[in-house]
Amino acid sequence: MCIFCKIVNKEIPAKVVYEDDLVMAFHDINPQAPIHILIIPKEHIPTVNDIEEKHKELIGHIFTVAKTIAKEMGFAEKGYRILINCNKDGGQEIYHIHFHLFAGKPLGPMIC
Ligand code: 5GP
Ligand code: ZN
Repeated sequence: MCIFCKIVNKEIPAKVVYEDDLVMAFHDINPQAPIHILIIPKEHIPTVNDIEEKHKELIGHIFTVAKTIAKEMGFAEKGYRILINCNKDGGQEIYHIHFHLFAGKPLGPMIC
């Protein structure tokens, strides 16, 4: 079982900020910004390449969860960044899709 499935199953701890039937969100263990949250589907989908038609509502739901977290944590108006890495060249390390949510400072331009 992958590490994020273990977090979903509460087999390893995480600082959870949001959870519902479909989705979980928790603080990244190695934050790259003052606020760095990972939003994941509870379903194990390895990469963006594995997203199928049946996941359309789930993926849309993740964006509404991101917005809800941003509003509840008070950084929606100042702004934030959502980022997804895919496969090796995209910098993906955990093969269970996750949406990085960065906030808490001006993030500047994207660096590639
Ligand atoms: P990726 O490079 O796959 O897009 O991002 C993986 C992210 O997961 C990294 O930012 C890393 O710090 C985070 N991460 C890895 N293992 C754990 C863990 O056990 N718990 C939490 N909360 N985050 C983790
Ligand atoms: Zn998984």
